[in-house]
Amino acid sequence: MNVLFVSSEVAPFSKTGGLGDVAASLPAALAELGHRVVVVTPRYGSIDPARHGLEWLPLSLDARGERCGLWMRRGGPGSPEVYFLEHDLFYGFRRAPYGEGGVDYPDNPARFAFLARAALDLPRALGMRPEVVHFNDWQSALGPWFLRAEHGDDPWLEGSRSVYTIHNLAYQGMFAKEFMDGLGLPWSVFRLDGGLEFHDQLNFMKAGLSFADALTTVSPNYAREILTVEGGYGLDTVLRSRSGDLFGILNGIDEREWDPSRDPHLPARFDARDLRGKARVKAALQAELGLPVKSHVPLVGMVGRLADQKGMDLVAAALPALLRLDAQFVMLGSGQRDLQDFFSWVSGQRPDRFAARIGFDEGLAHRIEAGADTFLMPSRFEPCGLNQMYSLRYGTPPIARAVGGLADTVEDYDGWKRGTGFLFGPLDPGALVGAVQRALDVWRDVRAWRGIQARGMALDFSWGRSAERYEALFRGLAGN
Ligand code: ADP
Repeated sequence: MNVLFVSSEVAPFSKTGGLGDVAASLPAALAELGHRVVVVTPRYGSIDPARHGLEWLPLSLDARGERCGLWMRRGGPGSPEVYFLEHDLFYGFRRAPYGEGGVDYPDNPARFAFLARAALDLPRALGMRPEVVHFNDWQSALGPWFLRAEHGDDPWLEGSRSVYTIHNLAYQGMFAKEFMDGLGLPWSVFRLDGGLEFHDQLNFMKAGLSFADALTTVSPNYAREILTVEGGYGLDTVLRSRSGDLFGILNGIDEREWDPSRDPHLPARFDARDLRGKARVKAALQAELGLPVKSHVPLVGMVGRLADQKGMDLVAAALPALLRLDAQFVMLGSGQRDLQDFFSWVSGQRPDRFAARIGFDEGLAHRIEAGADTFLMPSRFEPCGLNQMYSLRYGTPPIARAVGGLADTVEDYDGWKRGTGFLFGPLDPGALVGAVQRALDVWRDVRAWRGIQARGMALDFSWGRSAERYEALFRGLAGN
């Protein structure tokens, strides 16, 4: 099959979260299954064509009269072609995908409507006929609507079916309805039922949910949660009306990028058979962070956006109690200003116990996954979550809230011979502290802990199986 995959971020070129990882590894896994996968994404100012070996193409795309140039990263066996849109909307004075200094770019509606439209012109420019066009998250959610409304007589997209994937329902791309005209959207589609209207605003995600031929989200459990009033973020009614077309397919991880036996970010390597390297990574990490280098004090790791979604406010509330435990904590993340300031301040107060690193640091993220003894992920909600899968693979049993993809991937330790981590339910600091306490108690029982690590490290989170599920879905849609 020919698949056109549209995403506002693709690692390693651009990444603000899990979407970037998925947009790199799902197309690669589909390409490995023998399909031609063409990925299209913006070329942001932060993407240096020379550094990534991109080629400038003598082609241009047309998005309703607006032209843009193209860079390409060549594909190969098992690796998809990636096309980058060169346009002032993405490049110019801007460096980041969505905004800077915590403020979104005000023209994001125009920027991402352009992404979806330009992407749909790529088949013509390349002379390819995609069976499936796969759009992701709010940024490209207008795509399924454009495909229907603006490509009815386009020979390159004749018969193309659209798939829309929700990576996070909480970010819907909501804007004042006054943007409709500027985006060239007809007012007839600004309606509640099967349209783009949401509380008198323009909602990009609703276009994906209403007009895509099939919907997916990134874990089976999240696919159930978003059908409820609590998990549906106001879109549960729309989602329930399409529940027959909605599939939960667990994200995989890039097992080459995240492999403790050959991870270039680590000062020592290890695997399930020989964990000695893990102890060396822990010691080096403690030293790197300025924590006392002590093997007998457990180290709890956290990596992620500092946002309420990730339960970081819960961590903040639990911190006085956590700091009374005989343990060290390391947190890497950036996000909400209040949380950044708070965790930095605590880190200054208790440098012996708590190390906070504010920012985005791929190498340190790897060293925390590898060097920590346990990994804390107390998310309010979690569509899939990648970090818990990385930590399972790195012999770092997760402590997680039993929601979304966390409940699909972490099995609670039963105190005996089952389980890969520690789950808790209630959204309160007491429950979080209780779960951390339980994990640390088990950590002191070396044999029990080795068993938990071994079971987690033996799990298969590679993309293979999930890519086959996407493939089956695509084949069903394409009728072949
Ligand atoms: P989300 O997409 O909701 O942010 P995921 O767990 O699905 O959460 O994916 C987050 C990805 O981003 C992971 O690969 C994680 O390691 C990475 N990440 C998040 N914050 C940071 C950071 N501050 N430094 C390095 N990597 C980070």
